[in-house]
Amino acid sequence: MNFKKVRLKNPSFQYTFMISTMITDNHMHLYNHLRLKALKQFRQAGGTHVFLVSLLSHHYGIAPSNGDDFRAIFDDHIKLVERANEIVKAYAILSVHPAEITILSRRWGADRAGEIMKEALEIAGGYVAEGKAVAIKSGRPHYEVGDYIRRVSNEVMMHAFRIAKEVDCPVQLHTESYTKEGMEEIARIADKAGIKRDRVIKHFSPPRVDEFSEIGLFPSVIAMGDNAVKAAGQGDRFVLETDYIDDKSRPGSVLGPKTVPKKIKELLKAGFDEDFVMKICKDNIEMIYGIELE
Ligand SMILES: [Zn+2]
Repeated sequence: MNFKKVRLKNPSFQYTFMISTMITDNHMHLYNHLRLKALKQFRQAGGTHVFLVSLLSHHYGIAPSNGDDFRAIFDDHIKLVERANEIVKAYAILSVHPAEITILSRRWGADRAGEIMKEALEIAGGYVAEGKAVAIKSGRPHYEVGDYIRRVSNEVMMHAFRIAKEVDCPVQLHTESYTKEGMEEIARIADKAGIKRDRVIKHFSPPRVDEFSEIGLFPSVIAMGDNAVKAAGQGDRFVLETDYIDDKSRPGSVLGPKTVPKKIKELLKAGFDEDFVMKICKDNIEMIYGIELE
């Protein structure tokens, strides 16, 4: 399905053959359900490249008391990504999930929780500098929090931006549901930290490609329903993701591992050509992460 038919110009050679395209999922997890089998499904459906994001500390049975405790999580994740690379081309994103603020605050209070997260992000940045990962993930809670936690979360996110700027990598963001105002506020925080707005990738984005272009943050559109076609109708400044979470208690949630290849096929059917697909699955990815896909 990741093939297109090519008709040769010389009519005596009027037969078709297949050439392959790249199909990239910008945000996926592997946890306790299909694990690497999820990537086999992704590959079978036509998927070629995937960005694997580490999970919350409790998914690894770890209750961090300092930033250093995240090393075990990151090492574990990097090892998994190495194995993933035997199936498809896989890249590691190291996450200090914004919900850690709530978990860590219970034990340490909000201020220390924020410090632990900042330390962990610095360690994540170190791994990126060593070439073991291509991005860090931060953001702010997607659920209602008090003013103080919100302020600390913004500081943690700003710290992530500074680290990313220093090690020259993007930041994937997990945030509250999209509002233009919310994204503009985040864009201003990015400016303060000195990171380019288009290296701040809003994970789980709605298909609002126009508005994201205006604001400058880069949308990673969640490939639900007709989001891909809707996004494509506005232009090619976006990437696609499933946020597949591989949790055996919620199998298939958020979207299954075959979804992005399926949606790419829908785009081709809807008349978007292979150059368009290469733009969102290769060129945009290369621009954001500063890597070369092969
Ligand atoms: Zn996720």
